[in-house]
Amino acid sequence: MTPEQLQFDRENIWHPYTSMTNPTPCLPVTSTQGVYLHLSTGEKLIDGMASWWSSIHGYGHPLLNKAAHQQIDTMSHVMFGGLTHEPAIELAKKLTAITPEGLDKVFLSDSGSVAVEVAIKMAFQYWISKGLSEKNRLLTVRNGYHGDTFAAMAVCDPVNGMHDMFSDVLAKHYFAPSPKTKFDQQWDPQDISQLAELLSKHHQHIAALILEPIVQGAGGMRFYSPEYLTQAKRLCEEFNVLLIADEIATGFGRTGKMFACDHASISPDILCLGKALTGGYISLAATLTTTEIANTISDGGAGCFMHGPTFMGNPLACAVANASIDLLLASDWKSQVSSIEQQLKQGLEPARGLSNVADVRCLGAIGVIELKSPVDSVKIQEQFKQQGVWVRPFGKLVYIMPAYIMQPAIVQRLTAAMVEVVANH
Ligand SMILES: *Cc1c(COP(=O)(O)O)cnc(C)c1O
Repeated sequence: MTPEQLQFDRENIWHPYTSMTNPTPCLPVTSTQGVYLHLSTGEKLIDGMASWWSSIHGYGHPLLNKAAHQQIDTMSHVMFGGLTHEPAIELAKKLTAITPEGLDKVFLSDSGSVAVEVAIKMAFQYWISKGLSEKNRLLTVRNGYHGDTFAAMAVCDPVNGMHDMFSDVLAKHYFAPSPKTKFDQQWDPQDISQLAELLSKHHQHIAALILEPIVQGAGGMRFYSPEYLTQAKRLCEEFNVLLIADEIATGFGRTGKMFACDHASISPDILCLGKALTGGYISLAATLTTTEIANTISDGGAGCFMHGPTFMGNPLACAVANASIDLLLASDWKSQVSSIEQQLKQGLEPARGLSNVADVRCLGAIGVIELKSPVDSVKIQEQFKQQGVWVRPFGKLVYIMPAYIMQPAIVQRLTAAMVEVVANH
């Protein structure tokens, strides 16, 4: 990339959550392969981020490339209204087969945030169809993250969720404290008492409880007890409230189970998928629900579900998603993820003793170092680059979620770099 191109980028292109007047530097990537990012400077960085949870098989996988090539030569896109095609049908078959029981109706969309919008709309339209339109609020827990669009923003953590400045324009929902019992800690029944209280007081007005099962991602990288999920599901049934599981970050093996709901063996009423759905190749998301919900919506006043994006069911994205799921199912992803978990635990343990570190935690192929104060993001990015790795911290959180195929020696370089950089930050 020429200096002119990079200057144009700084002056004219928004990057995620960046300033146009004080842009933070962006590294110029020319290609990606396996677990590496190749920069135009000739450097190559080990990618700890898997492009935000999505590139689970690594970059440039021959089978995913082949699926994309074949599909683009056949049909890249066609509208989904009144037309259908094999890539979408095959994908819906696979998704209904691998997701928790009972989720057999599939709505395909473009991105995670839209999958969440669709889930919320399904919940509201379900209760409207049942003549209970007063059930028009959501319940969630603090420290959540569900996306950047307006309905999704309204259920993100009100302070941590990056959207507090919009509080006056967002719909008002009910927030319970975030789950406190850690993933492998003894369950404390008090942990869910406030959620139970909100449900018992307000259930006539609550359409759905929306949560990220087990792992709260961008709202704090917190891992909580499967028992919380079990209890939340039980409470939803007791109070006639739907459960929406947002597995956009956790889906497809990331936490050591195919879906994080599987840690508690529960089925939500509505499930959101995205991120790793296409193995990190193309934007695609899905919202799944039950026959009962889909039929109630369809037999309600409107006679249909009121949603239909232009690029719904994009064949190219579906074809890559099919190849990615096949690849995952054919691989030994369970042992890959559990071996990465062991390596992350071992490799990040030395950080626990550092004076600026508040906590170290790992689950599945996710490793987190939580600092006592926010990092200097420009400085730390440079430090990581010097170590030959790509890690993008956020606030107090220095975290990685590598591709499942990352070899032990490379994982070790990544964790060593994290400990080294955090120690010297
Ligand atoms: C990333 C994410 C989203 C939003 O997905 P986008 O594709 O960025 O719109 C929603 N929920 C969770 C849990 C996520 O991690």
